Amino acid sequence: MADWRAVLADAVRDAAELCRLLGLDPSVAAAAQDAEACFPLLAPRTLLGRIRRGDPEDPLLLQVLPRPAELADVPGFRSDPLGEAAATICPGLLQKYRGRALMVTTAACAVHCRYCFRRHLIGQAGNLTIGGKPKRRPGGADLGLPCPQPPATRGPKVEDWELALRRIADDTSIREVILSGGDPLAIEDAQLAQLAERLAEIPHLRRLRVHTRLPVMIPQRVTDELLSWLRGTRLTPVMVVQVNHPAEIDTAVAGALGRLVDAGVPVLNQAVLLRGVNDDAEVLAELCERLIDIRAMPYYLPQLDPVAGGAHFEVPEAAGVRLIGELRRRLPGYAVVRYVRETAAEASKEVLA
Ligand SMILES: *Cc1c(COP(=O)(O)O)cnc(C)c1O
Ligand code: SF4
Repeated sequence: MADWRAVLADAVRDAAELCRLLGLDPSVAAAAQDAEACFPLLAPRTLLGRIRRGDPEDPLLLQVLPRPAELADVPGFRSDPLGEAAATICPGLLQKYRGRALMVTTAACAVHCRYCFRRHLIGQAGNLTIGGKPKRRPGGADLGLPCPQPPATRGPKVEDWELALRRIADDTSIREVILSGGDPLAIEDAQLAQLAERLAEIPHLRRLRVHTRLPVMIPQRVTDELLSWLRGTRLTPVMVVQVNHPAEIDTAVAGALGRLVDAGVPVLNQAVLLRGVNDDAEVLAELCERLIDIRAMPYYLPQLDPVAGGAHFEVPEAAGVRLIGELRRRLPGYAVVRYVRETAAEASKEVLA
């Protein structure tokens, strides 16, 4: 089984190659070009086997393929849709909700999700070098393309962790630290183990939550070292993954998430509601059931954050509420996700259904 770092380094980084590998018409790659220059494509080869060949509408492909609609300027869709700049306590540390602080540990990810609300952070040029095989290209703005403007905030750095740790230690109301990004599991286990150790020394902390897409994109990421530091920490670990469509769960992903659960780590899933991907009762019901079958609990179904470049993924709220009603008629109560929306400056996520 290939090492996860090697899989990450070998990821597909351009639309022409992706289309060739998936038997798609070269016109699909040509149409991707401008959007790709604004936010680079990144898709690990471990994902490709789950995408139907020759189908430009495949729900997994749509999550990673740049499309011309990303350049549309849609009113209400902006660069920092959640007001995170205002919730920043110090570089790389956010707090919006009581008792929970969120560390933006890195801008690196295993995949570039086209609808990501932090896409401007993730797409920053330095990120292209993560996992080796650096491929620097001129940014879309340099080419005169109407790329959405990035927010003024700079990307997170490991050097920011010290100050973030001090701030967390100073605030005794914080019970839980959420490692987010980017994808925190893009960081090496040795470094994460050290961070977990430092956090565990802060007496008022109880839980350590990890928000990651890596075990789903590259199942090899669930290493013995990862399980070892998660098992070893005094803090109660919780892993929140992101599976948006049942076809993302193949036997390797089921195995990886199963290993986490077997190690005593609760695994929760957030699926973003996405047009053309999972805005269908049949698909969502199958997703929730598959998750339960592999012992990952459906947690949230977030409404798409109104990020510039993501408008074409939006599902109207009324349609989302109807979908949840349909799930409730089909599934056991514990399998029904909570449909939520995140708004700047609210005390919690708002439950829509
Ligand atoms: C979503 C989010 C959390 C976690 O919210 P839960 O409802 O506990 O899952 C925490 N902090 C920030 C900044 C968030 O955006
Ligand atoms: S893995 Fe998460 S942070 Fe990274 S691009 Fe996808 S949604 Fe954004």
